[in-house]
Amino acid sequence: MSFYTDAWRLGGTVVTGYPAADMPDRIRQNPPAGQAEEMRNLTADNHASSATDYLKTKGRIFDIQRYSVHDGTGIRTIVFLKGCVLRCRWCCNPESQEPGIQQMRLADGSVRIVGEDTTVGDVMKTVNSDRMYYRRSGGGLTLSGGESLCQPEFARDLLHAAKDEGFSTAMESMACADYSHIEALLPWLDQYLMDIKHMNGEKHREFTGRDNALMLENARRTAASGQCELIIRTPVIPTFNDTDEEIDEIAAFAASLPGVQELHLLPYHRLGYDKYIGLGRPYLMGDIPVPSREKMLCLKNVVEQHHLHCVIGG
Ligand code: SF4
Repeated sequence: MSFYTDAWRLGGTVVTGYPAADMPDRIRQNPPAGQAEEMRNLTADNHASSATDYLKTKGRIFDIQRYSVHDGTGIRTIVFLKGCVLRCRWCCNPESQEPGIQQMRLADGSVRIVGEDTTVGDVMKTVNSDRMYYRRSGGGLTLSGGESLCQPEFARDLLHAAKDEGFSTAMESMACADYSHIEALLPWLDQYLMDIKHMNGEKHREFTGRDNALMLENARRTAASGQCELIIRTPVIPTFNDTDEEIDEIAAFAASLPGVQELHLLPYHRLGYDKYIGLGRPYLMGDIPVPSREKMLCLKNVVEQHHLHCVIGG
């Protein structure tokens, strides 16, 4: 989900498990049979979590990034959870999408294992080691992915653990999950950085694999709860949502949500390209150029007509 951080850091050094030509289409298109089941088994006993045993909750991550200044206030530690139900064409973290553990070959020919089974307690050891940075900057833990809500108990308990340590908490998510999963983690969440990609359901489905009805409804319900600061984020993707009209519709929706004051426009970039090559997957965005600075400033102006604070790049 993180639009910048992981891709910036990995730059052009990523990836592949299969040589592109050797990867069977069925593996490109779908997770190998059993991966979803494997994830369910991993998290099956998480439902037993209580106020005292949440540090034992299991989950699957594919990265932890420290010292980030994106994706929440102050200096953040970003934990990337594996799995996503969307397949956005522009996704810059394609290795996040499948729930199963994968292999990627890096540009130098080495292989990276993508995915690691862990517990809340183990992740918190890393998060805790950065506590002095949080204290000085107001930072803390940010959950990203993938989509954190694909592992709802793990996400909830990570946020719970961070709040119990006194850290600020944030989550990047496009809210494509049953609202009960969101409701369960709101008591531990300070900032919800929620993707709204398009207001047209059909176009949303065409470019991401699902329509937007559930996400929009969850945005309304999260805003109505008043339990966290809700910031709307929109990746600006040429051919998908980069017209004034499309951004205007998203901004109007954001401005209609109680308490929402801020919208981030995240310009499309190509930093995930090498990962697709490494995973043996086609890069569906082709040669589409990134939006110009002038274009982004025009769209920022559109957002500001709705009396929202607009940040380019988040
Ligand atoms: S929501 Fe889209 S961009 Fe974000 S991780 Fe999932 S597929 Fe990638």
